[in-house]
Amino acid sequence: MPGFELFSDLERKEVNDVLDNGVLMRYGFDGMRKGHWKAKELEAELSKTFHSNYVQLVSSGTAAVSVALASAGIGAGDEVIMPTFTFVASFEAIMMLGAIPVLVDIDDTLTLDPKAVESAVTSKTKAVMLVQMCGSMGNMDALREICNTHNLIFVEDACQAIGGSYKGKPLGSIADLGCFSFDFVKTITCGEGGAVVTNNKEYYINADHFSDHGHDHIGNDRGAETHPFLGYNFRVSELNAAVGLAQVRRLPEFIDIQKRNYSIIREALSQLPEVTFRTVPEGGEESYAFLNFFLPDLDTARKVSVKFKEHGLDACFHYYDNNWHYIRKWDHLKDLKSLFPISQEVKEGLKYLQTKTFTQSDAYIARNISCLIKLSWTEEEVRARAQKMVKIIKESI
Ligand SMILES: *Cc1c(COP(=O)(O)O)cnc(C)c1O
Repeated sequence: MPGFELFSDLERKEVNDVLDNGVLMRYGFDGMRKGHWKAKELEAELSKTFHSNYVQLVSSGTAAVSVALASAGIGAGDEVIMPTFTFVASFEAIMMLGAIPVLVDIDDTLTLDPKAVESAVTSKTKAVMLVQMCGSMGNMDALREICNTHNLIFVEDACQAIGGSYKGKPLGSIADLGCFSFDFVKTITCGEGGAVVTNNKEYYINADHFSDHGHDHIGNDRGAETHPFLGYNFRVSELNAAVGLAQVRRLPEFIDIQKRNYSIIREALSQLPEVTFRTVPEGGEESYAFLNFFLPDLDTARKVSVKFKEHGLDACFHYYDNNWHYIRKWDHLKDLKSLFPISQEVKEGLKYLQTKTFTQSDAYIARNISCLIKLSWTEEEVRARAQKMVKIIKESI
């Protein structure tokens, strides 16, 4: 992560194809586009990469999560179970539909604890949203079983785990619906963009229509198309799709580089008895986009995090003290700071956040350091970096 580090002539060529004919929109203008359908081509490519029958490109990963939930019929008053450690997009996407995010504890996989999910299920629960944080995955089998038992829709946000797999299946392709982001800092990027992947034809057709104002996309006269139901505009542009097309073809190359860099740092840190690593479920292979490790306690993690920064080791995060990915600092959610009125149902549904504590999640996130693995590092740079990290950790314990 991130793919922009290795932009090349391949991306440039795809973008130039689009600029040559000037059709920046993914639908229509058949005569003008000289055979270039970048969004359609990218969908076909993603379908192969993610072993999924259907792919709908959209304008962002956040849009992908909203579109996925909407496509499965989730909306006002429905509860969606999600983890405390994730990106803000998870609850944004749920709340956009008038549904209620139910945050539950994570375990040592750094994502949903199946036991916490099980005990959060109510008569209003409609879906479980697993967020494959920082390049790895949750306990897929246990979560699938809970969804089957309670008849819940299983949604997988694989925005941060592009290229990882579980028992040979790409992450994002395992649940009923998978969501990807190709924003500027993801493993493959198209600037802004995302995708919903599924093997369920009905969900796919819903996603196709919903992300383009409800258009049925039958025939080639946009004005004559019918609207089987209401939709919005979450379209991706041809320019963005063109960049994504070049990037997805380079995914195996990116994953190889990530794996090399990750392995060098992991091996170095493994010499330290005080350092432990997140649990990856058996049969799982990380995407190697991040290396996550645990230190003995909060104080040590704080000390190490500050020293990493002081010594120029960028791209390492201590999410406990960071506003980005963890419930502890999401006051705008807890205080429901919305520009517009929020429905009574959602207000009531979110009251639990005023008082609920997440001691189990705190215990993991407090001790966790999450380091981004960059593509542009040379092997020499990674080795020097790993030694610096070891030295700092040793001095801090
Ligand atoms: C990046 C990200 C998103 C949202 O993607 P955008 O394209 O930035 O909207 C959603 N979930 C997770 C876990 C992410 O990392």
